[in-house]
Amino acid sequence: MRLPEAWEPVGLVRPELVRQTALIGGEWVSSDRKLTVTDPATGACLGSVPDLGSEATLQAVAAASATFPAWRQHSAPERAAILHRWHDLIQAHTEDLARIMTSEQGKPLGEARGEVAYAASFIKWFAEEARRTYGDVIPGHARDKRLVVMREPVGVVAAITPWNFPLAMITRKVGPALAAGCTVIVKPSDLTPFSALALAFLAREAGLPDGVLNVVTGTAAPIGDVLVSHPDIAKISFTGSTGVGTMLATRAMASVKRVSLELGGNAPFIVFDDADLGEALNGAVASKFRNAGQTCVCANRFFVQAGIYDRFVDGLAERIDAIRVGAGLIEGVDLGPLINEAAIAKSSGHVADALHKGGTLVTGGRAIDGAGHFFKPTLIRDVTPDALLCREETFGPVAGIVRFDTEAQAITMANDTTAGLAAYLFTRDLSRSHRVTEALQCGMIGLNTGLISSEVAPFGGVKQSGFGREGSRYGMDEYLNLKLVCTSVAPI
Ligand code: NAP
Repeated sequence: MRLPEAWEPVGLVRPELVRQTALIGGEWVSSDRKLTVTDPATGACLGSVPDLGSEATLQAVAAASATFPAWRQHSAPERAAILHRWHDLIQAHTEDLARIMTSEQGKPLGEARGEVAYAASFIKWFAEEARRTYGDVIPGHARDKRLVVMREPVGVVAAITPWNFPLAMITRKVGPALAAGCTVIVKPSDLTPFSALALAFLAREAGLPDGVLNVVTGTAAPIGDVLVSHPDIAKISFTGSTGVGTMLATRAMASVKRVSLELGGNAPFIVFDDADLGEALNGAVASKFRNAGQTCVCANRFFVQAGIYDRFVDGLAERIDAIRVGAGLIEGVDLGPLINEAAIAKSSGHVADALHKGGTLVTGGRAIDGAGHFFKPTLIRDVTPDALLCREETFGPVAGIVRFDTEAQAITMANDTTAGLAAYLFTRDLSRSHRVTEALQCGMIGLNTGLISSEVAPFGGVKQSGFGREGSRYGMDEYLNLKLVCTSVAPI
C-alpha cells in the first residue's frame, strides 16, 4: 500500500502537528519499517509511524536516563512553569488535536474536544501539585532521634497507554511523572499514535528539555520486552486490558519495578424503583454510549428493579433511537465507529449470546453495512446474568438490561465479577445509597450520575481492575518514593 507522505486532516490550522516520526532524546526519528494508521470511520489509510523495535527503545531508555538527573534538579516551580505552558498550548490547539484524534480513533468531534480539555486538565492539576510534594517531620521514637521523610521522583517511567482515550490516558500519567521530576517513555497504542506525537510536539514547544519525554511507536511486544525488563526503568504505568497488564506486571516484578495498573472494568449500573427516572436515563446514555461504549468505566451491566423496569426500558429505547450515528468528523454526530473489526465482532457476539440465552432485542443489534466499523446502538431486555454481556467487558454500544427484585440481589449480581473499576447507582433513598455504596466492590461510584471522571478525583480500581490511582492528589504518589532520614542528635 502506498502511504500518504503527509496526512493532514481537513482544516488543520497547524499541519506540523501531524508527526509521522517518533520522538527519542529530542530527535524526531524514522525507520524503514512502518505501521499504518487507519481511520475507523472509513477504513482509509491515514499515514504511518515508525515500527521501532528493541534497539530504538533502548535508545529511548538511554535518553530518559541521561536527562533524569538534570530534570529532577529543576525546582518545582521551574517544572510547573513548563507544564503550565504545555497546558496552555494544548488548550490553544484544541481544534487541531480534536481533529487528529477523531480521524484516528473515531469518537465524535464534540467528545474529542472534551477529551482535549480533560487531557489538559491533568497537566494543569499536576503543575499545581508539583509545588506541593511535601515531606513529613515525624516526632522521634527516642530522645536523640529526628525523623524526616522526603519524597523523591522514582526515576525513569514507562507509560503504556490504550487507544480509547489517546490523549487523556497519556497526560494522566505524564503530568504527575514530570511534575514529580521523573523522565518518561510513552508507548502509545499503535492504533492512535498521532495524538500522542502531537502532544509531544507541543511539549517541546512548551520548553520541555530534550529526552525528558520520549514517544516510541511500533509493534508492542519488542518495545514492551525492553521496558519491563530494563534495569534503568523504575516504574511501569499501564492502562489497558487486564490480560496484557497482568502479563507486563508479572514480568516487571522480576526486577522489582514499581507498577500501577489501570485495567478493564465491568461496571454495574443499578436502578432502584425509587430512582429519578430522567436522571437514570441521562446517566445510562452518558455512561453507556460515550465513545461508542469504549470506555473502561462504561456501564456494562444494567440491573433494574422490577417496579421501574418497563419504564426504564421504554425510556432508554426512545433515547437510543435518537442517537445520531456517523463519522466523527461530521458535526452533530453522537456515536462514531468502533475502533476495528474485532470490536464489531465482539459486540455482535455478545448480542447473539444474550438473545440465545433468553434476551429480547428492543432496538439495534447489528453492524451497519458499508465502509467503517459502525454498530447500531443496541438495547436488549430480559438479559440473564450468565450472558457474556454481563460476564465480559463488551466495549461497544450494547446495553443489556437484567431485572432484579431486592437490594440484596442487586448487590450480589453487581459484585459477581472479577473486575472492580466503576459502578453506578440510582436511588433517592439516603439509607440505601449508603448501604449499597459501602457494599459495592469497586474503586469509583457514580451515585445518581453517569459521569464520574475529573482531574481532581482519584481514578482507579480494585480486584482485577488494577491498583494505583491517577488524577487527584493521590496521583503524585505513584511517581514518588519515600526516603526516611533518621538523624542521631547528640545532647548538649
Ligand atoms: P491493550 O490491548 O491491553 O493495549 C494497551 C496498551 O498495551 C497498548 O499500547 C498496546 O499496544 C500495549 N501492549 C499490548 N501488548 C503489549 C506488550 N506485549 N508489551 C507492551 N505493550 C503492550 O488494551 P486496549 O485494547 O488498547 O485498551 C482497551 C482496554 O483498556 C480495555 O480493557 C479498557 O477497559 C482498558 N482501559 C482501562 C482504563 C482504566 O483507567 N482502568 C482506561 C482506559 C482503558 P498496541 O495497541 O500497539 O498493541
